[in-house]
Amino acid sequence: MENGIIVVGGGASGMMAAGRAAQCGAPVLLLEKTGRLGNKLRITGKGRCNVTNQAELREFITHFGPQGRFLYRAFSRFFHEDLRAFLQQRGVPTVIERGGRIFPYSNEAEDVVRALTAYLTEGRVEIRYRAPVRRLLIEEGRVAGVELEDGSALPARAVILATGGLSYPLTGSNGDGYRLAGEVGHRLIPQRPALVPLVTKEPWVASLQGVALRNVRASLLVSEEVRAQQFGEMLFTHFGLSGPIILTLSKAAVAALGQGRVQISIDLKPALSDEQLDARLRRDLDEVGKKTFRNILKGLVPLRMRDLYVTLTGIPADKPGHQITAAERQRLMSSLRDLRLTVIGARPIEEAIITAGGVDLSEVEPRTMESRRVRGLYFCGEVLDLDADTGGYNLQAAFSTGYLAGECAAEPGASA
Ligand SMILES: Cc1cc2nc3c(=O)[nH]c(=O)nc-3n(C[C@H](O)[C@H](O)[C@H](O)COP(=O)(O)OP(=O)(O)OC[C@H]3O[C@@H](n4cnc5c(N)ncnc54)[C@H](O)[C@@H]3O)c2cc1C
Repeated sequence: MENGIIVVGGGASGMMAAGRAAQCGAPVLLLEKTGRLGNKLRITGKGRCNVTNQAELREFITHFGPQGRFLYRAFSRFFHEDLRAFLQQRGVPTVIERGGRIFPYSNEAEDVVRALTAYLTEGRVEIRYRAPVRRLLIEEGRVAGVELEDGSALPARAVILATGGLSYPLTGSNGDGYRLAGEVGHRLIPQRPALVPLVTKEPWVASLQGVALRNVRASLLVSEEVRAQQFGEMLFTHFGLSGPIILTLSKAAVAALGQGRVQISIDLKPALSDEQLDARLRRDLDEVGKKTFRNILKGLVPLRMRDLYVTLTGIPADKPGHQITAAERQRLMSSLRDLRLTVIGARPIEEAIITAGGVDLSEVEPRTMESRRVRGLYFCGEVLDLDADTGGYNLQAAFSTGYLAGECAAEPGASA
């Protein structure tokens, strides 16, 4: 392999990088720490794998925050339409769902792993399993190969680091890449959980475990100031809140902890104006006036939230609708509009969908993914200081950076 390329990590980005480097004619050795490729890929999108999003480039990039600009080149080289064609060519057609999310038509993440594995086979990539890399070998400022945990040294003319982040360590991504990059002089942005469930203070959440809310608006408040809002689906858990809109708010929520009182306010009826909601409540309470408050709540909130609403509003459960006073109706309205939860923390990084922080982008060349510190060393995927909202953006970044790193490592100068 002296003249070849070593890819460290057989996840989404590493498989793409290895396949692309081989397609460009380089001999490639893929080293995977665990006994299987694509462990994390298999659990993405609840096993359905939200591979990408059909958002156009400029909008796509906004989902990464300020760091998104770094991805311009990688996305220009290999974007969602290229990924869809890549999968289609390997027998995995894709479909577009709500919010532009793209999934394999089969709804099987396994099929995406299969397509990537086929790519490796096409390029005759050599794969070694249970081959954890312990150290990068550097000679005169240039990468010379890697050293495995068993002490053996493997020479290479280029090394692509595709070791993933820190979350879901059982999949193999336990942060090795940060250490490897740090040891050869790369600056690391502190790692923290992003897209992570939030832990809340109110004891009543536990009783709602498993209750999902659709078409609601969640606002992140820091000392009563609205910092961000999301509309869509969320979920109550035994410790607090999860689901797509909460995960999207989580990075800002985690960053705000310690800055003031961090709260999530849930509007259960965001499609109605205050006037419309008030009119709807008057109608519900009057029309079925003999029904008890508890029964009327059936049409307003999920069944398992009724007891909570009785407690929050202080309206007796057996009070008939027509006896409910204007003040009580107002309390009901406020608690439908603004169900408050106090955020006291986040679940540990191991439970995050993605790791924020990582290899500092200013030390990586965005046109090639090559290190600006160590020649011949390339990065791709989550090991970089990149993270995005849910919706397929993170995987597209892994595939695009992998593709670019693969071809640039195979043909240095090709993309410069
Ligand atoms: C539950 C869950 C659901 C998700 N769903 C989605 C989704 O639907 N859509 C989306 O866009 N994103 C999703 N993501 C995020 C997405 O999975 C990641 O962005 C993506 O997997 C990152 O790819 P990667 O190649 O950088 O890292 P990984 O896929 O984590 O791969 C890293 C690989 O490197 C190997 N490795 C690590 N250290 C070493 C070492 N020292 N030597 C050798 N090998 C090593 C690991 O074993 C692993 O195989 C999800 C994440 C999680 C946790």
